[in-house]
Amino acid sequence: MKRYDVIILGSGSAASQAANLLRDAGKQIAIVENWTFGGTCPQRGCDPKKMLAEGSELMARVDQMKALGVNGDITLDWVTFKRRVDEYRFAVPTTKTHNWKEHGIDLFEGEPHFIDEDSIVIDGHEISAHHFIIATGLIPRPLEIPGGELALTSNDIFDLETLPPHLSIVGAGYIAFEFAHILRRFGCEVTLLIRSQALKAFDRNVVKRLVEETERIGIDVRTGVEPVELNGDVLTLSDDSTLHGLVLNASGRIPSIERLNLEAAGVKADQSGIWVNAYLQTSNPNIYAAGDVSASDNPALTPFAGQEGRIAALNLIRGNTRPLPERPAPTVVFTSPPIAKVGLTIEEAEANGIAFEYKDNDLSHFLTYERIHDETAFSRVLLSHDGHVLGAHLIGQHAPELINLFSLIIQNNISHQHVKHLQFAYPTSASDLSYLI
Ligand SMILES: Cc1cc2nc3c(=O)[nH]c(=O)nc-3n(C[C@H](O)[C@H](O)[C@H](O)COP(=O)(O)OP(=O)(O)OC[C@H]3O[C@@H](n4cnc5c(N)ncnc54)[C@H](O)[C@@H]3O)c2cc1C
Repeated sequence: MKRYDVIILGSGSAASQAANLLRDAGKQIAIVENWTFGGTCPQRGCDPKKMLAEGSELMARVDQMKALGVNGDITLDWVTFKRRVDEYRFAVPTTKTHNWKEHGIDLFEGEPHFIDEDSIVIDGHEISAHHFIIATGLIPRPLEIPGGELALTSNDIFDLETLPPHLSIVGAGYIAFEFAHILRRFGCEVTLLIRSQALKAFDRNVVKRLVEETERIGIDVRTGVEPVELNGDVLTLSDDSTLHGLVLNASGRIPSIERLNLEAAGVKADQSGIWVNAYLQTSNPNIYAAGDVSASDNPALTPFAGQEGRIAALNLIRGNTRPLPERPAPTVVFTSPPIAKVGLTIEEAEANGIAFEYKDNDLSHFLTYERIHDETAFSRVLLSHDGHVLGAHLIGQHAPELINLFSLIIQNNISHQHVKHLQFAYPTSASDLSYLI
């Protein structure tokens, strides 16, 4: 039986970052993957989704600009978009595995489970290691209604050869909203089923504007209803109404740990993920967990998965020297218009007893947004009494890039006074920054 320095379970963003550092430190590594090498983000997540969203964003911009003299309609061709997306995502495993093999990393494809604290079996083949990093990510939460297994997940959307005339989407998070907007722009009739509150982690005012815009582009948003049964292509709802067509289950994602037999390794976990300390060490000191699967406070997003992979690897190499930093998380929902946030919401500041004031701006009257006829643009910025940005919340075409500037300001603790004196190129959305704070 071969014994490694480190075995990494999973091969996504967290695993990749960890593998690079461990390899550079001269460790003998194996990576075990139970699906396709490369992880969620480039194959079934951020990257292919954003490639599709480029189409829906362009269509939204064309619609907006009609008021300013742009004529004609554009259409989006799913088959052509899908072909390009497939080229990109199907190349990922080859590139990744080639690179890892070249660097002497052993790769195992199959379903691993622990048999004791330092050994796993992959489809009958046993290997062991001094250390493990578990980076198996999240999988879609099953839709627990009769027939729920018939619903598609976000993974399946990328495989659709043609789009259905109607799609019901169960969920109120970013995946539900993003696919609702993308698929609507590609020509589907979309019904979005929201059990209670849409996009809970985001600013209420921003979400309200997004929901209004979602309805305005023809998405049927139903709040306070739940699916109760899926029979063939008939979805029955809690108000006894029915919907016909495909169903996308975007009701959440859960840690992919069920088949790992974590008990045998002494690793504790629950539905929030694998329990870790500040160094990403699990209840077994020789085993670390990183990325979406860890129950750290980080959001389940690619940049944080990568960061956790690096930190777990560094702590494994040098002993526990690097705690997880507390960083504000910039997040974007790639709807059209997109929304974005970083730092605290009003509710979070209040719940933590943090004194703050906030500044709202209807940005549609700023030239930056008037010249693209973006009537949705809005910003809300929370400031501490000593003039530092605590949180920023945006909706509008420029939100995804502008939020990165707010993130820079918060992470570097740049004061409101200082921001007022920064120079930015004009006319850009950054050059409005001093007015938003
Ligand atoms: C539709 C969608 C859109 C997204 N959009 C964004 C976005 O715009 N921006 C953003 O920052 N994030 C986005 N995310 C989230 C992002 O993809 C994840 O945060 C990121 O991929 C997590 O990386 P990871 O390494 O922790 O896990 P993953 O990338 O999920 O990697 C885990 C790997 O482990 C494998 N695996 C699972 N179980 C086992 C097992 N038992 N044994 C062995 N291997 C296993 C999986 O097959 C996978 O390859 C999106 C996610 C989805 C689903």
